[in-house]
Amino acid sequence: MMNAKSLYQEVILDHNRKPRNYGVLNEASHHAVGHNPLCGDRLNVEFNLDGECINEIAFQGESCAICKASASMMTAAVKGKTCLDVETLIQEFRDMATGKLDLEDPHHLGRLTIFSSIKDLPTRVKCAILPWHTLHAALHSETSTSTEAENDPVQSSTGTV
Ligand code: ZN
Repeated sequence: MMNAKSLYQEVILDHNRKPRNYGVLNEASHHAVGHNPLCGDRLNVEFNLDGECINEIAFQGESCAICKASASMMTAAVKGKTCLDVETLIQEFRDMATGKLDLEDPHHLGRLTIFSSIKDLPTRVKCAILPWHTLHAALHSETSTSTEAENDPVQSSTGTV
């Protein structure tokens, strides 16, 4: 049986080799660009709504492996879900990444719990959260966002260029 750490590494590698929903849509009703100055991750997330459901979603950008894997898994997880369900997932993922979610409690994260150990790596938390942060901005029609707006778990002197 694979231990949690090698499973985590395997999933990150897999999603970097074959990112799901990577690219751009012909037309998108919602989009946002996210930036994480701490690591240099930049991400574009866009999607289309069919009624209340996300029926098409894509992401593109320059990011580290953790951010890319998180974005790839996020797009797969939210496709076909209603905005309300997506809001719940965003909240749960953020709570998990910052150590506020007890995984023993009911949640909807499924395979996304692979990122639960990220809470022990304060400098990488924002990398994992950025795609979710950007999706949240797109849902609320904010076109650009930065993880700088979130409470910083580490003291950072890195500024925007
Ligand atoms: Zn990163």
